[in-house]
Amino acid sequence: MAKSLNCQEGPTTHPCGKCTNCVEITSGVSPDVIEIDGASNTGVDDIRELQRELLYAASGAKYKIYIIDEVHMLSKNAFNALLKTLEEPPENVIFIFATTEPHKVLPTIISRCQRYDFKRIPVEAIVKRLKDLAVKEGIRVDDESLYLIARKADGGMRDALSLMDQTISYCMNDISIDRVRQIFGMIPNQVYHDFMQMIKAKDPQSLITSLHQIFEEGTDLQEFIANMLEYLRIVILRGMQIQIKDISSEELPLFDEIAGLFEQTDLLYIMSQLMQTKNDIRVSGNPYLLIEATISSCPVWMRYRTWQT
Ligand SMILES: [Zn+2]
Repeated sequence: MAKSLNCQEGPTTHPCGKCTNCVEITSGVSPDVIEIDGASNTGVDDIRELQRELLYAASGAKYKIYIIDEVHMLSKNAFNALLKTLEEPPENVIFIFATTEPHKVLPTIISRCQRYDFKRIPVEAIVKRLKDLAVKEGIRVDDESLYLIARKADGGMRDALSLMDQTISYCMNDISIDRVRQIFGMIPNQVYHDFMQMIKAKDPQSLITSLHQIFEEGTDLQEFIANMLEYLRIVILRGMQIQIKDISSEELPLFDEIAGLFEQTDLLYIMSQLMQTKNDIRVSGNPYLLIEATISSCPVWMRYRTWQT
């Protein structure tokens, strides 16, 4: 946005990327584009200082652009101080507010802004971009790896590209799903697949043994639960016959098989237990115990359900 406004050929929707202004903005050294972290500059004094700075004109570009990140973190007083500036903005000054929590920004501020909602980029689109890149660079990579990287990027193309970079520097030009999982410390879906089979078989002994194996490998427990929740989400959606574009078609049968084994209520029960555990782990002195208890309670629940029906 800053480049679009301050490019020497601008304002334009296609900044050239070559002029001094564009180059400076890209490398984060433009004196006319000022980034402020709303989370650490939350007070009235910070806003006052900003207002004093506004008196000076832009040095080399058309506009002086202030980007306030996490703008919702500003205090109420800081917002009110800012409001005066927004009511009569100095000429050639543009504010860009970024936030993930727009509902926390005062309506009086919002009403003075143009609002653009940035959406997460769908996994499929990220995969396509990564695939094009791999072809161009002559890198061999399977679909499963690309989907995994794209999912991990959580809707951000820049994150996806940097994860891809990371992967390439480890695997060189031959990327395989096993290596990718290793790099990111991810647990293969097969592990969860086995877990679900054991829950279905009401076999807490095997569950605990497998769990101990995972503990011994030094797996991050939060990551373990987060991955299992993501896994269950897909199983539940597949159980509802919902098309999912987040995973490659080769992986689908695995999820469908598990979806066919369980009632939706059981899956939702397991999911809610895991969510609870995920929260509890943060404050627990013994996270291993919590996971053990949660996982081994699932077969008990299944047994109880069978009695009921
Ligand atoms: Zn330019």
